[in-house]
Parts: sequence; C-alpha cells; structure tokens
Amino acid sequence: MAKIKILVVHGESKDCHTIVEKVKKLNSKSGPFECIFFLGDVVQELNVTNIDGLPVVYTFSSTSEVESSKIKSNLISLNGYGVYQTSNDLRIAYIMNSATELNGCKDEVLAKFKEIDDTVDILITKEWSRCVAEREQRVTGSAILDDAITLLQPRYHFTGKEANTFFESPPFQWKETNTISRFLNLASYGKSGKKWAYALNLELDATLDTTAPTNAIENPYYVTKKRPQPDDSIQSYQNKTKKIGTVVPEACHFCFTNPKLQDHMIVSISDYAYITIAKGPLSVPKGEMNFSGHCLLIPIEHIAKFNVGQENLLQSGFAQDMINYEKSIVKMNFNKFEMSTVVFEINSDRSIHYHKQLLPIPKYLIMKFRTALDRQIHFNNEKLRQNVALNFQTYNSLSDFNYKSIMENAQNNYMQFTVYETAESDPTIYLATFKLEDRIDLQFGRRVLAFLLNLPRRVRWDSPVCSQTKEQEVKEVELFQKSYKEYEPSKSN
Ligand SMILES: [Zn+2]
Repeated sequence: MAKIKILVVHGESKDCHTIVEKVKKLNSKSGPFECIFFLGDVVQELNVTNIDGLPVVYTFSSTSEVESSKIKSNLISLNGYGVYQTSNDLRIAYIMNSATELNGCKDEVLAKFKEIDDTVDILITKEWSRCVAEREQRVTGSAILDDAITLLQPRYHFTGKEANTFFESPPFQWKETNTISRFLNLASYGKSGKKWAYALNLELDATLDTTAPTNAIENPYYVTKKRPQPDDSIQSYQNKTKKIGTVVPEACHFCFTNPKLQDHMIVSISDYAYITIAKGPLSVPKGEMNFSGHCLLIPIEHIAKFNVGQENLLQSGFAQDMINYEKSIVKMNFNKFEMSTVVFEINSDRSIHYHKQLLPIPKYLIMKFRTALDRQIHFNNEKLRQNVALNFQTYNSLSDFNYKSIMENAQNNYMQFTVYETAESDPTIYLATFKLEDRIDLQFGRRVLAFLLNLPRRVRWDSPVCSQTKEQEVKEVELFQKSYKEYEPSKSN
C-alpha cells in the first residue's frame, strides 16, 4: 500500500528563514515530502518567507476565528481545535488550546471529537496529555487531552510544549481499534541542540499498521484512566480473591436492595426479572430506531448464573419471565424495526449477578455474525494469550438436546451468544464452556458485537464516546418504553 513521507519541524518565528532553508535541503536530500507540519507560532513569518518549492506547509495557532485558513498556495493555518483532511488523504487533528483554555471549552472540544469515526493519522497539540506526562514524570499535562486522545486514538501525536527537549515514547496500542500510537515532543530549533525535525514514512492504510512492535508499552491511557466497572470488578474479583459470593446484594449493581441502584434506567419489571438500558450503550440509534436498544435482562434474585441448581428450573416463574422478556425484545426489534437480535451472556460461578445483554443488529449485518465471532476468537486465542482459548459449539435451537444438556448441568460455566435472525425462527446458539479457574475476557461479547457493528471506538462501555448523562439515559428509557409497550409481556402471566 501507499506510504507517504511527512516532515514535522519546530521553531520560533525569528528562526523561520534559517529553518526553511534547512527544510529545503532536507526535502531534496531525504524527501520529497508530501507535507510539512511546522510547530511554533510562525504563520505570520512564514507568510513573508519564500517557501516556493516546498509541499504544503501546515502551521498551528491557538486563535480560533476559523478552523483553517489558506494563507497562500502552499501554506495552511489550522487554528484552535479541529480535524482537517489533507489532499493526500491524511487526517490531522489539532488542539492548540492551552490547558487553562481547555478547561473553559472542554465540552465543545470533546463533542467535536466524539463525531470523528475515522482514523486520525496525526494529532498536534499544544500541551502534553496528563496520562503520558504522568508516566514520564514530566510537565503536568491536560486531563482533557486524555479524554480527547482516548476518543481520537491518533497514530502519531506531536507537541513542542517542552522547547528544550526531544522525547519519543515507545509505541502503544489501543484495544478498541488495534491502532498503534506514538507520542513525540520536538525541541525548538536552536534552543538546545536537541532534535527539532522528524521525518516519517507513514503507511496510509492504518489497518496495515496494527502489529504491536516488540518495544510496545502498556497503553498509558488505560493505566491511569482505568475506572472500576461492573465487569472489571468481576475480573479483579476473579484474579485476586478466588472466593465466591463475597459481594453482598446491598453492594451489587443489579440488586434492588442496593440503595444506589440506578432505577431511572429500568425499562420494565416483572415478578422475577427486569430490563434496564445499558450504561454506555454499544449500539447507536439506527434507521427507525431512535434509541440505542442495547438493554440488559436481569433476574431480581442475586444469582451468579441462570442455572444455580434450582428445582424444575425451566418450569419456574423465573425462567418463564426471562424467556418471555427475551422473546418480547426480539419481537420488538424485528417487527417494529426490522432488526435482528443478539443476546450475550456469561454463566459463571464467579460472576456477581447474572444478566444477559440484548442488542439490536441490522438484518443485513446478522449473516456476518459468524465471521465477526471467528475474528475475535482468533484475536482472543492467538493474541491475548493470558485468556483461556475459546472454542464455540453451535446449536440450532434452544431445545437442542446437546445444548440443553450443557445448560441443565449447574456445574457448567460457559459464554453464550443467542442469535435471532428473525422473530419467529429458532435462534442459533454459540456456546463456549470454560473452567472456573480459567481467565476469560469479560468484554468478549461486546468486542464481537462492536466489530460486527463496525463501532470499534465503542468497545469499552466507559469510554467517553459511549457515556450518557442522566438526562440522556432518562430519555433513552422513555423512547424504549414507548416502542416496547405493545410487546411487553403482561404482568398477570
Ligand atoms: Zn445482585
């Protein structure tokens, strides 16, 4: 695939003329470059400097009347914050606001970058991010940049904040997109004799640049920003305590006895089960469906899995409620919105409170489910060796003898996808068993569906792109209930 040569330089306006002469020499010796990024407040000076013969030079300034302005035929100024697509298909993001300025426009900046779905090749910022600054014990960085960078996941990130230093961090990878990121701080020309110019030969197809180099470090944005989440707590609970049943219902996210239960998220309640919308939903409104549709089906009782050895399980009110709820959601998705449904669940004695995740999937994507699953199995089994290898069996109905024999044995621990192509046909079941002591990827289901839906940035429920305010959640529930009303199982059943 195509690679393009790029040059990034940093200097002050008083040195502009000298720098341009040096850049011209570099361009004929190591180039030709297809574009040049010039860090430093130099746009005025460059405008009156002869830059003929150079490719387009991009400068960056914190003034923000317009996002971008063409100063002359090969000089473009990018201002404030934004995203710019160059004529050679590079996507550049830039945030030239200082840390203090960012505090005043945090919401606007993050809202802007939330819209960006495509790969950002180059990010230029005035400040360091806090995560990288903390890792390197350097200048204090901006926490708002942490959020912006988590949204953008740029391939290269440049700043000139520390004018006397050249610094290059080892590469690191983003789990959501597999993107490899590199961070560099360029010294300013003539300040310290440190490196002020950096040339790179960038592969334009970002998907060919997803193999983590051997010197890759743990992604600093995960280390510092990792917040507790229900599933993480199960994992650390798995890893650290190896005990079962230590989370009491009063502290459980899904128990009504927990005074902190987020009851504004509840869509429907029956005698034995209830439905809530998902925190940080994966799916987004699509077509006729004006709400996410990602919901959780949860037993009211604090049990770790569907089958904990209840007598006559399948005849119980609990099982009936679970089945009726699941069917009714499948029906709404298909009949009202022409959506298929995928249900994901983990049945493990180490889980805290059993639940199923239900997601609407556009009909035209559902036949790609197997491919999406296989890809993530491959990734899980080959790349994430700390997890147990998953081996999925397929069953063509919930009443399949072999499926039932696994489900009806309370000793079994397994992961399951139930794929409802339509509202009437039997679902296809994909099931992988594991041993209690095995380490499993609790995000596996979400990973598969994020890949299927082509929403790589929404893999983590707690990433900024997925977060919703309480008002938005209330609205989601309202829209959900409005559509669900005619499908909701009647309470007397
Ligand atoms: Zn519970």
